[in-house]
Amino acid sequence: MPQNIFHQKLAKLSLRNIPVVESGQGPFLKIEGRKVLNFCSNNYLGFANHPLTKKAAIQAIKKYGVGTSSVRVLIGTHKLHLDLEKSLADFKRTQSCLVLTGGYMTNLAAIQTLIEPEDIVISDELNHASIIDAISLTKVKHKFVYPHGDIAYLKKIIPEIKKLGLIKKADGSKPFILIVTDGVFSMEGDLAPLPALAKIADELGAYLMVDDAHGDGILGDHGRGIVSHFHLHGRKNIIEVGTLSKAFGALGGFVCGPSEVIAYLKQKSRQFLFSNSLGIADTAAIIESIQILQQSGALVKKLWSNVALLKKMLSQAGFDLGKSQTPITPLMVGDEDLSKEFSQILKKRGVLVSPIFFPMVAKGKARLRLMPSASHSQANIKKAVEIIIKTGQELKII
Ligand SMILES: *Cc1c(COP(=O)(O)O)cnc(C)c1O
Repeated sequence: MPQNIFHQKLAKLSLRNIPVVESGQGPFLKIEGRKVLNFCSNNYLGFANHPLTKKAAIQAIKKYGVGTSSVRVLIGTHKLHLDLEKSLADFKRTQSCLVLTGGYMTNLAAIQTLIEPEDIVISDELNHASIIDAISLTKVKHKFVYPHGDIAYLKKIIPEIKKLGLIKKADGSKPFILIVTDGVFSMEGDLAPLPALAKIADELGAYLMVDDAHGDGILGDHGRGIVSHFHLHGRKNIIEVGTLSKAFGALGGFVCGPSEVIAYLKQKSRQFLFSNSLGIADTAAIIESIQILQQSGALVKKLWSNVALLKKMLSQAGFDLGKSQTPITPLMVGDEDLSKEFSQILKKRGVLVSPIFFPMVAKGKARLRLMPSASHSQANIKKAVEIIIKTGQELKII
């Protein structure tokens, strides 16, 4: 019987089991004392446990210690932070970059700082929680949430937004208009219609912000991300947000874009001014992963050949893989309990795959989500798929 308010609240939730990892990241993980094939991690390129990123982190710690001991504006900006920002700006082919301690934090910083209450924001309904939370922090009055990827809908509301854009703010300035979207949608693996969004941004005199957490290291030339994939780099009205915790392998977040935008964020962002800077080990490790990516596209290629094998085998077996265009591979199940059962049986059989259910996706759209990596061998992929197919047949999912 529930005793207090939190017991009562807990009783209403669909509880998720939080697994504990006892090994480093890689094609296998040790969980509950067992070695299982890992299809859960966002370690797309293997940088989370790469000999060179580890070496870079260790050397930096030996030289500088672990902490940075202050916010950046006081004494927390280390020379390594500037090196990292320069590398990221160069890699992303943008003018400037600002690094923060996470992708979530970076969306808060970028969106809360750039959008004022009298401005206008236009946001995809499936955007990441950190974008949604960031928008609510802005207290913006004119918020347009559009159906996922629906350009026709956006075109219809252009006249209304243009009209609002003409109404001067209390300080006499024109409202700033921001279109914000995930680059790759993390639950579906589909891409934002970036060229069409860029065109609409141009027509509105707006900026386009793209959070490419699942595209950096994966899409475009050497993993430069979705903006490179669509050949949109060099535009003065594109702002790129990203995370350093997925393909880049460690921790942190960044915003890349025109130098005046980054300069403004550095002066005004509360998350930058009031929160400590990225640790030494993470900073050094990421500088190394970017260098590896700059020098060679081999890991990105290997990732994509693993993705091709995985998707081919699963779809030939009859699984519905949704509309993914990226390594993110959903296996549609529908029923939440069935998706949890599917994942539990797979774990017992040695394959770790996360079930994804409400509130991460809509009710009735539960699924498993497989995350292939360049660290898998083709034999790892084949072995996992065999077990997934057998289990999917037993549960009558295929
Ligand atoms: C993972 C993710 C984030 C959060 O990044 P962290 O570095 O884990 O805070 C933000 N946006 C999107 C689109 C993501 O997929």
